[in-house]
Amino acid sequence: MRDRWLINGAWCDGDTGSTFDVRDPASDAIVATLPCAGEKQATAAVDAASRALPAWAALPFDTRAEHLRRAADAMTAAQRELAAVVTQECGKPLAEAEGEVRYAADYLRSAAEQSQALQQEVFDARRPGVRAIAVPEPVGVCAVITPWNFPIAMLARKAAPALAAGCTVVAKPAEETPLSAIAFGELMLQAGVPAGALNVVAGDAPAIGAAWLADPRVRKLSFTGSTEVGRMLMRGAAEQVIRCSMELGGHAAFIVLEGADVPAAVQGALAAKFRNAGQTCICPNRFLVHRSIAGAFTAQLALAAADLMVGPGTDPATRVGPLINDEAVRKVRNHVADALQRGARLVVGGDTRRLPNRPDRFFEPTVLADCHPEMLCFQEETFGPVAPVMAVSQSADAVRIANASPWGLAGYVFGPTAEAERVARQLACGVVGVNEPAPSNAYAPFGGVKWSGFGREGGHWGIGEYLTTKYLAVREQAGTP
Ligand code: NAP
Repeated sequence: MRDRWLINGAWCDGDTGSTFDVRDPASDAIVATLPCAGEKQATAAVDAASRALPAWAALPFDTRAEHLRRAADAMTAAQRELAAVVTQECGKPLAEAEGEVRYAADYLRSAAEQSQALQQEVFDARRPGVRAIAVPEPVGVCAVITPWNFPIAMLARKAAPALAAGCTVVAKPAEETPLSAIAFGELMLQAGVPAGALNVVAGDAPAIGAAWLADPRVRKLSFTGSTEVGRMLMRGAAEQVIRCSMELGGHAAFIVLEGADVPAAVQGALAAKFRNAGQTCICPNRFLVHRSIAGAFTAQLALAAADLMVGPGTDPATRVGPLINDEAVRKVRNHVADALQRGARLVVGGDTRRLPNRPDRFFEPTVLADCHPEMLCFQEETFGPVAPVMAVSQSADAVRIANASPWGLAGYVFGPTAEAERVARQLACGVVGVNEPAPSNAYAPFGGVKWSGFGREGGHWGIGEYLTTKYLAVREQAGTP
């Protein structure tokens, strides 16, 4: 495994003279010590991306797509090794990490397939004698900044469509999980993506971010992370008028309607809520369950949650791994304590489980009953394995409460299909699973509204984020071909 940064196809040391440690959240062991990149290397990465841009953009789109397909195949072949890296630095169970690697490879394949988005279009501009042509062009050098919770998939979700569109990329992974990004960079190089087309640096995040946003050669920022950091980056992007895509925090509602198949809803809740120990942006954070079945749903969810094996992600039996760091544990504890103090009833879990010789980071799957919107867990993302349940009398109440949040990334509705789909269409969010706990898909549009951001990733919607359209108005000169 490489332990340096990828700039212009070469592996480089940092420019700040300092280093930072990457730790396994399940043991606190240091798994790598990496050089800390700062402003100089951030700029060197843009230099490389900028030099590589003309030749990469000039390649036929199917040649670029071929590179991405090769990378996808290499990723699939190395699925187990890459999953081990993801688990080591992010903590999720190995089976989930393998799923993440498959998901990342799907983004490479999906981007490779989007050639129709790259064709020029002759259209009718209602100008007699003028041939009107819309030409899609790559926006240019793209800065992509990714979070720790899906360290390889979030990078693939941005880099793949950017590269397919003919852009070049400077990428900054989270400091908790840079090794997956380094592995991704190496894989892309081996797949033949030319030097400079994809560059990866991390370390001093504010210095790197500031250098990129001040650089007029950077024409696009694609960010996935918290709303707070997203806002700050958008302010910075205003200076050079850099186009942005923002995939920010979520606060999903999980609505269970009257007449829902309760065991199916419980299985859906279990899958959506406890994946990655509740640290996913589309994780349900508020369960709004029809009063007639709230008791049964809560009891069955609690029974199933209590059965989930908590432990290190490397143990094949583990279903819920550690939280990413101690700060995350504090936040989850605080949300549980606040809910209990405001009248919630603890049904199962409630605190960390102490495992011998391991850090205090393994939060038990927790189910809370009798919750209400005044509780912290109903107001903001918990990012942990806590399922707060509120009983509601009608679907209109569930919709009103769900939409009262300033966030709007994902939602879930379980119940009789037609009614569930009707309710889903009323939710103010970008992605809704209807009797489906895992709606994300590399071929579908993913993204939010309101404080969850803007822009879409996946399918042709994803590639469109990296294209600009040039309009040619062509009037024939008399007597010339
Ligand atoms: P975060 O703290 O916002 O960090 C995200 C990225 O931003 C990291 O690479 C971080 O680098 C970087 N960053 C922080 N400050 C920066 C600055 N001043 N300049 C440039 N970069 C900066 O978020 P996180 O804790 O990693 O991720 C969790 C959040 O991501 C949750 O809110 C979750 O909902 C959201 N998320 C959203 C989606 C989506 O698709 N909507 C998907 C996954 C996660 P360092 O780590 O080096 O500080």
